[in-house]
Formats: sequence, C-alpha cells, structure tokens
Amino acid sequence: MINLPVPFSLWMQPTKRSNLPRSLLAYDVSVPGAAELPLSRMKELLQEVFDREVISTFFEGGEPFLREDFLDLVRYSTPNAFTIVRTNGTLVDRDVAKALKDASVGVACVDLEGATASTHEALVRTPGAYDRTINGIRSLVAAGVPTFVTAILNRINAGEMQALLDLTADLGAEKLGILRLYPLGVSRRHWDALSMTLEAQTAVLDALQTPPDVQLMRSWHPSDPNCCWQMAAIDAYGNSIGCPYLRDFANYGSVVDAPFMDTWRNKKYIEVRSASVEGACTDCAATDKNRSGGCRSTAYAFHGRWDAPDPYCSTMNQGVDLTVLPDWLVHHPAGPPSLEDADR
Ligand code: SF4
Repeated sequence: MINLPVPFSLWMQPTKRSNLPRSLLAYDVSVPGAAELPLSRMKELLQEVFDREVISTFFEGGEPFLREDFLDLVRYSTPNAFTIVRTNGTLVDRDVAKALKDASVGVACVDLEGATASTHEALVRTPGAYDRTINGIRSLVAAGVPTFVTAILNRINAGEMQALLDLTADLGAEKLGILRLYPLGVSRRHWDALSMTLEAQTAVLDALQTPPDVQLMRSWHPSDPNCCWQMAAIDAYGNSIGCPYLRDFANYGSVVDAPFMDTWRNKKYIEVRSASVEGACTDCAATDKNRSGGCRSTAYAFHGRWDAPDPYCSTMNQGVDLTVLPDWLVHHPAGPPSLEDADR
C-alpha cells in the first residue's frame, strides 16, 4: 500500500449544527456550546493543504449554510481545488445558487431522501422540508451549478429508489448518488428501523433502470473502494478524523492550534491509511491494490479492526448481518473518541 507524504483530498466541516436536527439520517450530534473553528482558522488550514497541492475539497455539515461565512470559505477554496459542497438544499435559493456558480463550485450535492414528501419528511422529520429541498435543487440547476442528488438507502425509502432516479432526471440534476447507511451518530440509534440486509440492498440497486441523461453512483464496494490512503478530514471542532465516515471512530489530534500535517503523521492515522486488508477480494487487489478491501469505516464498525474486509460487499461479507450491530457499537458514543482511546 502506498503511503503518501500529503493527502489528495480534504473534507472540512464548517458546522455540526443542522436545521433538520431531528433527521434519522444525521451522522452528527452537535455539542451545545462547543466552539466551531473560526473562518480565519479554516482558511489557514485550507492554505496549509493547498500549499501541498491537495486537489479537492469537500464541505459538508451539519448544514453548512447555517454558517453565515460559509460562502467566504467556498470562495477561498475554489481557486485552489475542485470544490464540492454538500447541503440539504433547504437554505439554497436563487441568490445562493448564483453565488455558488459565480464561485465556480465544482459540484453541489443535495440530500433528498425520498421521491415523495411523505418519505423524505418521515426520514428528516421536518414538515415542509421536501419542497424546500426540491426548490434548492431547482435553483442550483437553473444557475448552472453541476448538481448531484444524494440519498442514503434504508428500509424506509428503499421502495422509492427508482422514482428518485427518475425524479433526479426530471429535475435536471446530473447524477443520483445512492449512499450506503453507516452506523454513525443518530442513525446508529435508529438502526432497527433503517437498516437492511446486504441482499435486500443489492436487490434494490440491481433493479434500477437509469434514465438517459442522468448517471447513477452507488457507494458499495467495488465502486466504493478503500480511499483512506489519500483522505483527510477536519470536523467542526477542529478534530482531524481522516474521513467523515470515521467521525465516531477516529481522532488523530486537534488542529485548533496545531498544523494539520502534524496529525497526518499520527501513528494510528498512518496505520489506517496503509491497512493491508485481510480477506480482500483478490480481483480488486490485482487491479488496484491501494483501493482494495472496501471502506474502512464499515469494516471497523462491524469487525472492530482496521484491516478487516468491508461487509458491504457480497464477495467480502463473510456472513455479516448488516441489520445487527456488534454489541460494542450499540453503546459507542457519537463523535470522535479521545486521543488515548483512538490510539488503541
Ligand atoms: S472511511 Fe471509507 S469512505 Fe472514508 S476514506 Fe476510508 S475507505 Fe474511503
């Protein structure tokens, strides 16, 4: 496994706060009174990685547009890196969409969890959210911002994936990204209501018919590889966590005052990035060793080991029932562990 001197991609979280705080699909739990990184520090951290030629940035919340200075952050990023913004779309109107277009944002991803208001609002648990999200998508498309719809496949919306794919095309968005459900944050507490077996997930995905003029992305291995080796992530409170999907499992140090690169050299971070996966599918390893073994988050969640195979893959599943969480995970707190716990 290659060990890079610098990351290729940086995920940054301006806030953990959300205007859909009751959503069953929230991976974050915001801590009342916790200090978010100020804009000036986020810019310094961006500059630190831009100086090392990071090629892409990804901003996500919570809901990032709750930060009044979020567009300033985006404008700081776009001249330096391909910039992706993920939002629930409810705060995106024509002016915001135009500002993103003027800033040359590479892609806006908008979370829409169902093709109908009843399903979307059953999941985000906020009346009226569906229309606001649809309006946000329409505004982005009308402004000419490359727009992807994103949805987390779960037991409640599984019957609407084809309709959501068709709706994505009707709205003029370029792509539907169907994402796997991760046992993180609030979603972990609702695992019984949300989770599906791998077979049930695969049946939904395999039945989809992609309309012309729209693309389909599925976040399951092998199309979703092990990308830990090149990835960096900083949460809203200044924790270096490697990837947003490790937000409950990894902590490589604080960047509130320290340089990001100090955390990149953290021993555990190097171990996770270079994990040689036990039981990795040989076909994938033969074609791309760095990316084999699948996502480290779900591997760790279900096996408790960084070098375990990703159970969201029919080749590597090894009989893991994805509807049943391991005991240690059921009571695991949300948010990054302490540095001492993370180092074990
Ligand atoms: S945790 Fe999964 S999605 Fe995140 S960087 Fe690692 S392999 Fe990629």
